[in-house]
Amino acid sequence: MSERTIALVTGANKGIGYEIALGLGALGWGVGVGARDDRRRKEAVEQLRAAGVDAFGVPLDVTDDASVSAAAQLIEDRTGRLDVLVNNAAIADEMPQEPTQVDPATFRAVMETNVLGVIRVTNAMMPLLRRSPSPRIVNMSSSVGSLTRQSGTAAELTTGPVAVAYAPSKTLLNAVTLQYARELSGTNILINMGCPGYVATDLNGFRGVRTPAQGAAIAITLATLPDGGPTGTFVDDAGVVPW
Ligand code: NAP
Repeated sequence: MSERTIALVTGANKGIGYEIALGLGALGWGVGVGARDDRRRKEAVEQLRAAGVDAFGVPLDVTDDASVSAAAQLIEDRTGRLDVLVNNAAIADEMPQEPTQVDPATFRAVMETNVLGVIRVTNAMMPLLRRSPSPRIVNMSSSVGSLTRQSGTAAELTTGPVAVAYAPSKTLLNAVTLQYARELSGTNILINMGCPGYVATDLNGFRGVRTPAQGAAIAITLATLPDGGPTGTFVDDAGVVPW
């Protein structure tokens, strides 16, 4: 079994996920780079290794049961442990996403990746996580999932365009994460939700105003919480995000 802390970051081949892998690797941790595309995954692993990270590739499509099971087996075989899971992979799909126009297939695809994908990966990794002395789960959410913000006055709205699939996918992810936190309360597993802010990535056509490294910071904070730290919280760099 590996003696060092091992993390898995889903969707780590680019954007915020790549920077989370880089940041966790800088702590001296081994980092599994979860990514579905072989070429993009290999390139990210090479780039991370060149930056001094003990990175290894984990073929992973979060929408595919067999892929997720194989990923858990790969980590078991390679390191024998998993301490930190960062559920970062997500899609926004087509924009604009107006409720009156949306293709149900878009809605299904977004929920499948952003919500069911997190459940699928978390549950597959749970046997490994339960063996860790200090397991941490970080679910990358978004303030667009905040019903308080979505229902505020126009002046208060900082929640992006109308997005009938993407925004509710993060609301549901938050609700689901709270149920995990309730079930796991009293264990040493801390599970929290982080919002990276509005970050320039493929997800938003690089319109965001923060860098991926800035967006990764909240995930690194939540991945490195001390024992007895908070669980079931929804936070960004500025503190608590309203539900
Ligand atoms: P991104 O650059 O589009 O990266 C998304 C990552 O998820 C990519 O690596 C992508 O892989 C991966 N992915 C998508 N579907 C997948 C699947 N089925 N299986 C495995 N991997 C999959 O987006 P990002 O902005 O870095 O977003 C990272 C997280 O932050 C997401 O949870 C997002 O909702 C959240 N977030 C972002 C912002 C923002 O302003 N950017 C704001 C709030 C929250 P491929 O390269 O193969 O597509």
